[in-house]
Amino acid sequence: LSEKLQNVMKKIRSAGRVTEKDVKEMMREVRMALLEADVNYKVVKDFIAKVSERAVGQEVLESLTPGQQVIKIVHEELIQLMGGAVAKLTVSPSPPTVYMMVGLQGAGKTTVCGKLANYLRKQGKRPLLVACDVYRPAAVKQLQVLGKQIDIPVFEMGTGTSPVEIAKKSVDYARSMQFDTVIIDTAGRLHIDEELMHELENIKLSVKPHEILLVVDSMTGQDAVNVAESFNNRLDIDGIILTKLDGDTRGGAALSTKAVTGKPVKFVGIGEKLSDFEPFYPDRMASRILGMGDVLTLIEKAQASFDEKKALELEKKLRTQQFTLDDFLEQLQQIKNMGPISQFLGMLPGVNSKVLKDIQIDEKQMVYVEAIIQSMTKKERENPSIINSSRKRRIAEGSGTSIQQVNQVLKQFEQVKKMMKMFSNPRALKGLRGLGGFR
Ligand code: GDP
Ligand code: MG
Repeated sequence: LSEKLQNVMKKIRSAGRVTEKDVKEMMREVRMALLEADVNYKVVKDFIAKVSERAVGQEVLESLTPGQQVIKIVHEELIQLMGGAVAKLTVSPSPPTVYMMVGLQGAGKTTVCGKLANYLRKQGKRPLLVACDVYRPAAVKQLQVLGKQIDIPVFEMGTGTSPVEIAKKSVDYARSMQFDTVIIDTAGRLHIDEELMHELENIKLSVKPHEILLVVDSMTGQDAVNVAESFNNRLDIDGIILTKLDGDTRGGAALSTKAVTGKPVKFVGIGEKLSDFEPFYPDRMASRILGMGDVLTLIEKAQASFDEKKALELEKKLRTQQFTLDDFLEQLQQIKNMGPISQFLGMLPGVNSKVLKDIQIDEKQMVYVEAIIQSMTKKERENPSIINSSRKRRIAEGSGTSIQQVNQVLKQFEQVKKMMKMFSNPRALKGLRGLGGFR
């Protein structure tokens, strides 16, 4: 969302005491920020009413950190607004399960077909793509090119057959060829029109898809809500897929589409590559909107496995540059308790995916990392710069790894050290230290 909202949040976060009047003021700013972000005004109104009611209640005014308490409420209500939990796809007990993509031209339907097929295959499914956009020869070709890239077959009958016919035939074909998932790409228009809706209704009637997924371009702002409403009224959609969230989007669509249609956002497209696709996590989106990485989630996770005293020690070590391989190992072990490492690092504010790619700590590699560090002498762990090539050879032999792997661990250590140093000033580590702060 807007920078403004993030500024408001910063202001609120540092507020020591909060009166009813302060809450009103905060809510006014939150309201402005949401409206500026193109969130539907009705949605904003309901949202503010809900948050205000909770915010002027006892739970805030009597808490020790009221500013943070208000943020927590805004955060929680945002998550609710976006559907609460991750919304799953229906899977038919008698395959094939049929998913039908609908949406305006350029929304990203064809791309999403490829992305979803790719995603589902990784989950062990056998998808078939179906080309039902018969109005542009290029559309069939586009789907074929995508299919080829990920090695997933495309069912097509050129542009001379009606989409209803193609859809029907494709399901029969899938059944006979043991495809368990059918993903139907349909045509779009620049604007909603009767002809398009009629065709989509006919496809729906004839193949009875298990889910109709509306693909919405998140950059279209307020329009996204109208589009979602129209498609939902005619087709009774099952979910929404928001695309182009990687762009300079204000994210309003993510907030309002669910609120207005009652249908959850199920996936998001976050880039042009076929792998740029993931389930929609309402809690992460709420945090992103509030501009705090996934700080809240991180803190909750950290509370479970991070020891406050240790975090303090760590911060001091980082500041005095005494972060050693021993600390690194201990960190890795603690992080292991928190779940996937990349997920953990990804939750820190300011860590972008580029940094993550550089670091590449694979969980499976972690056993090696541990073995390698454990094969070092105490001196080596405290001062890795003394590790010359003969020491490396000894360490590799001792840990049953290769010199390359030893080098890699040393490189990772340096990178993590560098990265953690970046956080020793900003909020991240303080966040970890003041673990109770958000409670
Ligand atoms: P369709 O007309 O609905 O089938 O839309 P397409 O799938 O052809 O996509 C239209 C354009 O949007 C293409 O250039 C895609 O590469 C691009 N696109 C689709 N999804 C995303 C996304 O998540 N991020 C970005 N940056 N571009 C996307
Ligand atoms: Mg298309």
